[in-house]
Amino acid sequence: MTIDSLELGPIRPPSEASSLLLRVTRNCSWNRCKFCHIYKGKRFELRPVADIKQDILTVKAIQDKLKEAALKAGYGGGVGAAAAILNNPLSETHFNVALWLYHGGTSVFLQDANTLIMPTPDLVEVIKFLKETLPSITRITSYGRSKTAAKKKLSELKALREAGLDRLHIGLESGYDPLLAYMDKGVTAADHIAGGKKIVASGISLSEYVLLGMGGKKMWREHATETARVLNEINADFIRVRTLTIKEGMPLYDEVKSGQFIRASDEEIVAEEKRLIENLDCRSHFVSDHITNLLQEIEGRLPDDKEKMLAVIDRFQALSAEERQNFRLGRRIGIYAALDDLNDASKHGLVAQAVAKVAKNGKVAKNGKVDEEIIYSFMERFI
Ligand code: SF4
Repeated sequence: MTIDSLELGPIRPPSEASSLLLRVTRNCSWNRCKFCHIYKGKRFELRPVADIKQDILTVKAIQDKLKEAALKAGYGGGVGAAAAILNNPLSETHFNVALWLYHGGTSVFLQDANTLIMPTPDLVEVIKFLKETLPSITRITSYGRSKTAAKKKLSELKALREAGLDRLHIGLESGYDPLLAYMDKGVTAADHIAGGKKIVASGISLSEYVLLGMGGKKMWREHATETARVLNEINADFIRVRTLTIKEGMPLYDEVKSGQFIRASDEEIVAEEKRLIENLDCRSHFVSDHITNLLQEIEGRLPDDKEKMLAVIDRFQALSAEERQNFRLGRRIGIYAALDDLNDASKHGLVAQAVAKVAKNGKVAKNGKVDEEIIYSFMERFI
């Protein structure tokens, strides 16, 4: 690594697309969830505070150079220079810093999977140094595990909030204990509730992620109902849904192949999501900001928008079987974004052509039903 490069982890939440990514730990401290392949085979490590501070200084040095270049080139501001650098970056790090500046240079996401596991004084030190060194920062967020949050003292979470940690993204996935155990999530519904409530009490904003489809054909009802129960207890600021995808490298991949885990279809997952929303009784923003979600337009503020959100599901379920399939395929190949797109004749025609192509390959049954595996595989191309 050169002095001008930053260590980068593999992922961030979709809502952090314009944040600066700063890696404070490596990989996942649990790393056993069956539906997750991101860090498999990689060892968890805490990064030394001194190394993290060096990365922060590197960002500052690149930012200062960009601003100087901006003035010389007559841009008169960091955003103009950032745009120029984006067209011709010196390195991936320069590109990332320029992109962050282009988006205002205000938001930072701390990687990787469970930043909360850092000793609290170390994390407080990192956050304070970050804010002192880069004073344009007004928002700092990260991933954490419920179990780790539950083990922290409330006073520690409050210290992190006071230092400048604004939001935690937690992978709740489900609130149904047998399913959490089956997926080896390493937490119980009670851990989720304890950790989530403590984060809320600390004043740190909380995003809880639910994994639609995780119950498969066997447990989807309980998954929906128990997840709603746990979310009602936590009352998080945000509930974010994403849909189960299966990739090689996940332990669940082999269980799907061997028939031990039977995946739910999109239509079953829609029924699951309906049951989840019907059972929610909390004051959270419900967000579907993930490409894997069939009905990405289900968004709103609970409880006020509940009926509006359920109406999207009712509209999908009221379509004919042929139109539901057309929408599923169109959504999974990236042509449709919302149900209204079904009324766009050119998009509709493109999807009909895609169905014909799939049929040529022998993947459509006599009754016109496209092979589920094909639809899953289209969805998984995005991941
Ligand atoms: S805790 Fe999160 S990152 Fe770690 S294995 Fe589970 S899903 Fe993956």
